[in-house]
Order: sequence, then C-alpha cells, then structure tokens
Amino acid sequence: MMHTPLNLYGLFKYSQQMYPEQWIVSRGPDGQHRYQYRQFGERVRRLSSALRALGVQPGERIGTIAWNDYRHLEAYFAIPLMGNVLHTINLRLPTDHLRYVIHHAGDRVLLVDEALLPLLRPIGEQLPHVRAVIVLGDHPNLTQSPLQPAYAYEDLIAQADPGIAYDPDMPEDAPLGICYTSATTGNPKGVMYSHRGLYLHTLGIGMVNGIALSDADTVLPVVPMFHVNAWGLPHAAVAFGAKIVLPGPQPTPQDLVDLMKQEAVTLSAGVPTVWLGVAQILEKSPVPLALRMVLCGGSAAPPALIRTYEEGFHIPFTHAYGMTETTPLATVARVKGTLRDRPAEDIANLKSTQGLLTLGLDMRLVRDGQDAPWDGETMGELWLRGPWVADEYYDDARTPMSFEDGWLKTGDIATIDPEGYVRLVDRAKDVVKSGGEWISSVDLENALMAHPAVFEAAVVGVPHPKWDERPLAFVVLKPGKTAAKEELLEHLGQYYPRWWMPDDILFLSEIPKTTVGKFLKRALRDQYQGHLSS
Ligand code: AMP
Repeated sequence: MMHTPLNLYGLFKYSQQMYPEQWIVSRGPDGQHRYQYRQFGERVRRLSSALRALGVQPGERIGTIAWNDYRHLEAYFAIPLMGNVLHTINLRLPTDHLRYVIHHAGDRVLLVDEALLPLLRPIGEQLPHVRAVIVLGDHPNLTQSPLQPAYAYEDLIAQADPGIAYDPDMPEDAPLGICYTSATTGNPKGVMYSHRGLYLHTLGIGMVNGIALSDADTVLPVVPMFHVNAWGLPHAAVAFGAKIVLPGPQPTPQDLVDLMKQEAVTLSAGVPTVWLGVAQILEKSPVPLALRMVLCGGSAAPPALIRTYEEGFHIPFTHAYGMTETTPLATVARVKGTLRDRPAEDIANLKSTQGLLTLGLDMRLVRDGQDAPWDGETMGELWLRGPWVADEYYDDARTPMSFEDGWLKTGDIATIDPEGYVRLVDRAKDVVKSGGEWISSVDLENALMAHPAVFEAAVVGVPHPKWDERPLAFVVLKPGKTAAKEELLEHLGQYYPRWWMPDDILFLSEIPKTTVGKFLKRALRDQYQGHLSS
C-alpha cells in the first residue's frame, strides 16, 4: 500500500477541490461576514505568504488570541499548512499563565483580535521573543498594540501573494498545533498535536458511530477555538465540506438561538452551561430548529438537561467526553443498535454516561496497578491510548506523572459497564479512599445538592486514623432554608450504603472556588485535614 502522509494539506486540498461553493458565515461586531470555501482558501494562502514575508521560519510557533470567527479559521489552516505550529491561546487565562504559555511555546508572532489587545498590556515587556503582532479586525488602531511592530491583518492579506506552494509531502509526524491545559495547580501543560493525529481525529469526527459530521451539516462550534481546537470541529467541518457558522465574540444564548435559526444549524457543540442558557431561551419562546445533534462535553451533562432537550424540545442531545490530551474526542454517549429496544429509562441512563470509546482508541480501567473489571461498579482510573492521544507534555518535567507504558493516565476515575459505557465518577485526586475502597465525592455532592434545602455541597477526603481517609461534607444552605446534619445523612442514606456516609457535615456560608468557578477542594482539604484525626 502507498504510504501517503496523513497531513493537513491532504484535507485542505480535498476540501478546496470538492467544496469550493460551500459557505462560511461569521458573526462579528459589525454584523455578519459570509464567503465561500474558494475565497477562504485564497485568503489562507495569502496569510501563509504574509507570514513568510514577515520572516517566520519553518517550525516556529505562532499564537492566536481570538474568538471564533473566519479570520481565526484562516489561521487554523494557514499556519500548519506552511509548516508552522498554531498555538491557540486561552484568552481567559490569568495574566501570569498567559505570559507563561506564550513564553513556554516560544511564540514568534501573535495574531490578536483588536478588542483583546489589552490582555497583552501587563505582559508586553516580558515577551522579547515575540517579533510581531498582527491585529485582527476591519480597521484596527495599531497604536493600541502593547507590542510593536504591529500590522493590520487585512493590509497584509491584501498585499500578499496567493500563489504560495504548500508541501504536499509534509511529514505526518510534524507538529501542527499546541494547546495548553488550564491547570488548577502549577503552570498550564502544553499538548503538541501532530498532522497525523489531527487527520485521524478528523476521520473520527466523521464516523457514523459517533458524531457523523458530513457535507450535509451546518456546524456551529460554540466551544471556543482556543479550547482544544474547538474540539476539532473547525478542521473537520472544512475537511468534510460542511457549512460553518462561527459565533464571534462573546455570543449570548439569544445570539446562538438566532444564528441556529437563521442558518439552519444541524450540529452545535458546547459545554453544559451553554446548553442551560440556550434552554432558558427556548423555554420562554420556542422556535423551530434544524438541529440533529447538540453535542455537549467538557464537564458532565446533568441528566435533567438531556431530558429537557430530548423530551421538551425534541432535539437529539449527545453527551461526549475528552480532554486536551486526547484532541479531544474520546467517548460519545450514543445508544448501540443492540440496546435500542431497552426501556426509556435505561436509554436515558445510557445517554447520561460519558459514552462509548471512539473506534481507533483503546482504554483500560486501572486500579492499584491492575486492570479492574468492566462491571459498571468497580471504580478505576481511565487510561487511554491511540493515534490522537498525546504521549507527553511539551517540554515539561511533569510528563512521567501522567504517562505510563504507552498509556495516558487521564486522572479521571470511572466505571465501565459490561457494554463498554464509561461513567466518570470523580477526578483521581478527589476520590475518597476509605480502607482500600473508593467513594465518589461527585456522587455524594450531587445527591446532597438534590436536597431541597441545599444550595451547594462539596465533599473531600480527609485523613482518618483507622480508614486512612473518610469523606467530610461541606454544605451551603439556600437562603431561608434549614436542614440538620441528621436529615441530610438520612437523605444520602436513600441512595448510598452506610460506609459512603460522610463522617461529618459542616455548614459554610460559601464553598471556596477557583478563578473558573470550580470548587477549590484543596483549600478545604488543607484547612480541615485534622478534623477526623483529633
Ligand atoms: P480539558 O483538558 O480542559 O478539556 O479538561 C478535560 C477534563 O474535563 C477531563 O479530564 C474531565 O475531567 C472533564 N470532562 C470533559 N468532558 C467531560 C464530561 N462529558 N463529563 C465529565 N467530565 C468531563
């Protein structure tokens, strides 16, 4: 067989040949921008030429700080096609992490939305290796850029040569892009994607046993293009010739509903909070939508949300799981053909799991160094391997902590049932290890938060003289509501065995949180570590 390289050029060339008439629609500050793949392809080539003319050398990293729009999509292709590495920078990072990732990746040029230039103000002086900024916008004020020299994207595109020749034989293992995971402790960790990994991930997104993206779709990625390449959807949508709708800066739920209606969007992807917001709009004023799939991941989709879409709006809702290290598609919660006749309650249950492994990947459930049974009950750490799974962190001494024997240790604690459905129960560092048995802090928190008097609940494991660790619960009550510890324990007792019951429940006025609003369990563990041992 021929060993043709699996590189982005192959996908781009195919798309340009087969779908020159397909549309890309982009919501911007001054209205909508529309053009066809043909013009998109020409501008991609011009951008590559412009970057070459600025002196960018092969292999150098180029950063983007931008929302989901057509210029960002052009960078998604122009940078890797010319043999460079696309670094999509999370614009919500705290300032010190922003400086860290730009520095660590060694970005030479930054492409920045005009409205986001102020993010560079506190760190501009500390980025000596950045040689130029290209400002994305219609008529940007270049003097606003804290880093100089600054160029206007549209001026560069207008002057650039559209005739650049890309290398069709670009080695498939060449780096294509880098994305950093947002860390709760320490600096972010970089994941380098290869051409081959992205190519195979793209085919994975097209598989009917999964997302089934095709040229019949109109795709709206709400998930930001700075987060794991918007789950690989922009690259895949171009490759498969789908119509693409990009929501621009800070879309509100109403903006999203308007776009989905106007453009007849069939597939849209985002985190649960996006779909909660959209549900509120649709509940107030229902509109007919063409959605064949709402794709939801990034954190667990609450079962009630899935029901709202499927039963309330008759919109198919698909829960999926992945991480920066897995490009990110790992599992998709679809119902196997052999299970379609199961009762509605079982089907709802399957749809709320993280789902079935994508063909092409391999998984293990590991507990105390051994493979744990796939019985739907035994908890273990999920390990993954496959052609779109990272095998290291970029230039990072923390690599050995997360990779072992060719597997990625995800840090997610899961059960896998005999049919292969993965259900996440906790992060590895949060699971409570009591006398060798594991207790899911997330399950206890969800059960506590289902009590009518409870506003928020966090559960952490703290040292215990006999059991090593026992669960300790923290509860914030809703204003004006009361509930005693005994009542809450009785409530939990309906769902979980006695040995899962927290040894104590403490009432707080608020749960400490991280900058992105997740519970800061470390703070609770540190403060209360002596609570059960004294
Ligand atoms: P990130 O690398 O920032 O995308 O975060 C990946 C992590 O988010 C995973 O390791 C999981 O802990 C969590 N995650 C992603 N998708 C889901 C999901 N569908 N349900 C629960 N947790 C999820």
